[in-house]
Amino acid sequence: MSLLTCKEFLDGISDFIDDDIAPELREKLQKHISECPNCWVVYDTTKKTIQVYKGMEAQAVPDDVRERLMKALEKRMASGRGCAGARTE
Ligand SMILES: [Zn+2]
Repeated sequence: MSLLTCKEFLDGISDFIDDDIAPELREKLQKHISECPNCWVVYDTTKKTIQVYKGMEAQAVPDDVRERLMKALEKRMASGRGCAGARTE
């Protein structure tokens, strides 16, 4: 079973958090964060951010906000240590 790359994970993270995703893909994303601490942190942070936002506005996150968030996350992933996804230490 092949693991998702971090980029694939980031591509699917918003649908994953919204739970608007095929069960099969959700499983893959879940597996990725269980083995990739960097992406787990990104997931956890993003989820909390979206939850806080939704709590305030009681509606979906606007696309521009989501886009900014994704860009910030991607930048963070790119400038960080990077992560091979399947690496276990
Ligand atoms: Zn990852």
